[in-house]
Amino acid sequence: MNGAREFSLSVSIRRHDEIALVIIDNPPVNATSQAVRQGLLDAVEKINADPAVKAGVIGCAGKTFIAGGDIREFGKPPLLPHLPDVLQAIEDSGKPLVAAIHGTALGGGLETALACHARVMAADALVGLPEVKLGLVPGAGGTQRLPRLVGMLPALDLVASGRQVKAQEALSLGLVDVVVSGDVFEAARAQARKLIGKDLRRAGRLEVPACDQVAFAAARAQVDKKARGQIAPGVAAGLVAAASALPFAEGIARERKTFFELMRSDQSRALRYVFAAEREVARVARLEGVAPRPVEKVGVIGAGTMGAGIAVALVDGGYDVRVVETSAAAVDAGVQRIEGLWARPLKSGKLTQAQFDQKRARAYVSADFSALADCDLIIEAAFEDMAVKQDIFSRLGALARPGAVLATNTSALDVNAIAAFSGRAADVIGLHFFSPAHVMRLVEVVEGGRSSADAVATGVAVAKRLKKLPVVCGVCDGFVGNRMLAVWRPVAEMFLEAGALPQDVDGALEAYGFAMGPFAVSDLAGLDIAWARRKRLAATRDPNERYASTVADRLCDLGRFGQKTGAGWYVYPDGKRTIDPVVSELVEKVSAEKGFARKTSPAEDIQRLVRAAMINEGAKILSEGIVGRALDVDMVLVHGYGYPAWRGGPMFEADAIGLECILADIEALRAFAGPAYEPAALIQQLADSGGTFGELAPGEAAPKNSLVESLR
Ligand code: NAD
Repeated sequence: MNGAREFSLSVSIRRHDEIALVIIDNPPVNATSQAVRQGLLDAVEKINADPAVKAGVIGCAGKTFIAGGDIREFGKPPLLPHLPDVLQAIEDSGKPLVAAIHGTALGGGLETALACHARVMAADALVGLPEVKLGLVPGAGGTQRLPRLVGMLPALDLVASGRQVKAQEALSLGLVDVVVSGDVFEAARAQARKLIGKDLRRAGRLEVPACDQVAFAAARAQVDKKARGQIAPGVAAGLVAAASALPFAEGIARERKTFFELMRSDQSRALRYVFAAEREVARVARLEGVAPRPVEKVGVIGAGTMGAGIAVALVDGGYDVRVVETSAAAVDAGVQRIEGLWARPLKSGKLTQAQFDQKRARAYVSADFSALADCDLIIEAAFEDMAVKQDIFSRLGALARPGAVLATNTSALDVNAIAAFSGRAADVIGLHFFSPAHVMRLVEVVEGGRSSADAVATGVAVAKRLKKLPVVCGVCDGFVGNRMLAVWRPVAEMFLEAGALPQDVDGALEAYGFAMGPFAVSDLAGLDIAWARRKRLAATRDPNERYASTVADRLCDLGRFGQKTGAGWYVYPDGKRTIDPVVSELVEKVSAEKGFARKTSPAEDIQRLVRAAMINEGAKILSEGIVGRALDVDMVLVHGYGYPAWRGGPMFEADAIGLECILADIEALRAFAGPAYEPAALIQQLADSGGTFGELAPGEAAPKNSLVESLR
């Protein structure tokens, strides 16, 4: 009964004249669920059977056209009717069918539109085939119809990148026939009327336009290079190539078979996990039902690298921003930095001059600390120095309005100590943005021992409004990401001592799927920040602990701070990362001084031991209750540190590989790197019981008196 009702509610036909309007109504995104597929098939049959109907328009109720498949049906045996068959029926219809696209037509949605005989698109709509982002390929004709409509090269680009296309581009590609700023249904009806009695353009029956084979091969090679180990983009490119080599029906069959093979692949499983985790990460059980404090006006302290990026992110997110600096000269420099971040979109036309001026007016920069007095949230991004933070937070304690949330962007200082300076620790949280702050999605929302739940919820809500990914974590040195980095980076340095060169380690990790290896990243970020930290920690360092940063220290002694000084682990003639024999010699010299007999390490060893170090520290972070779930760790690594999303993140990957194997890797790591790399008890426990990180209930890994709890 229910199913029947759902079916009749999902697709309806309305008729005013000889044009039938087929309306899909399957909230929230009109996914192509079974009831929608059946409803569409029935509608096509009805339209063709009714002599009073001459043509049809297919469109959707609500905010959007079909925006994809029904994720609940993913990974299960497909239910009849299958989407490719429904779309074939649409294409084969004797009467014209026109798609009316508003909102977003993605995946199966765009494929439905491609099967229609013409497409009308709202001027503010978007279309795309994003399947590769889930480790899949289009499974209902997208790879075969698209090249026939727009040509091989544009099809390759769209299918392999998964990017979304705006209306004007879609029109110029020939992907849609008409773009309208008014009523898209009305325009589609007019288009349908024009097609009555005409020869219909059926995408599956068109010849694939000829294409320069050399250019196509070059574009395919580019796709493989960009994919960095992810298989779906290359496979999708192969299907586009098949469109010109095989008859349509064979191409469709190959596409369908490939779709199901990829659906079962580890990579797609990992990417679907990441997709779900990105949505889950901001939902923290203990914040359920806690209302965030209202925030409209936000203060930012410091307009340096981070402060400027944070201010831009806040204005882009619709907040009014007050930035304070230390002097008139620092204000000028801050204004330049902020304007500089909007300069590129202004130049490229993404931002009009009027929009730039509007944004600019919403960021008020001054040297007047009292400008922060009426802010609802104040984010401190001044120097990483406890005395500076102490001065700022004690002044904020006196100045900020009651109920304002006070946040620090500190990378590694103790948020509880900073909170105490304010005299109102319940209002204080950490908001750890990543650089560049207006681009990077990750924000660690740090819950201090005395932070109130609504202050933490406010941090999460603001991060969400900035379209960022908030990961709530407790206080520890380096929080999640930098704490893990502080453990696995030395392993990379130990490989240098053992016999590798920076390019070997970077090469191994880039081959693993990281966007950049650790030494290249260090050159980009600047070697001086970590150097300052090492010097700060030197006095308290355990003399028995293995110290692997000697080469980095010597590079800093030489003033080689990375790209900003033109040299670091590499040199950069013409901006291009280039191996420097000076560094190779230095690495060899330090090895010799420390008595290592250098021998090369296979890339696989570097990959396995670095990964083992990450997983081991991730397990400790979970056991201490710094975060509640393995997915929190994975989101930090994927979104802040370039861990390949198609591997899911270190904790997901550990579960996929099996914790017994990971434990063996950690034991090998301890043998290589020393006793600091003792396996975490949690891994031992899970390996013994056959458990996984992913199955742990939120907070289950941590003892009741975990760090955050004990500080309350
Ligand atoms: P930065 O040196 O580029 O900028 C700091 C700015 O703060 C300077 O412009 C300085 O004039 C200003 N400032 C100093 N004291 C001030 C005060 N009392 N009142 C107002 N302004 C003051 O530093 P940054 O890289 O932007 O780092 C800022 C903070 O963010 C640090 O705590 C750092 O650890 C953290 N952080 C940095 C990064 C990064 O990649 N750079 C990433 C995450 C977090």
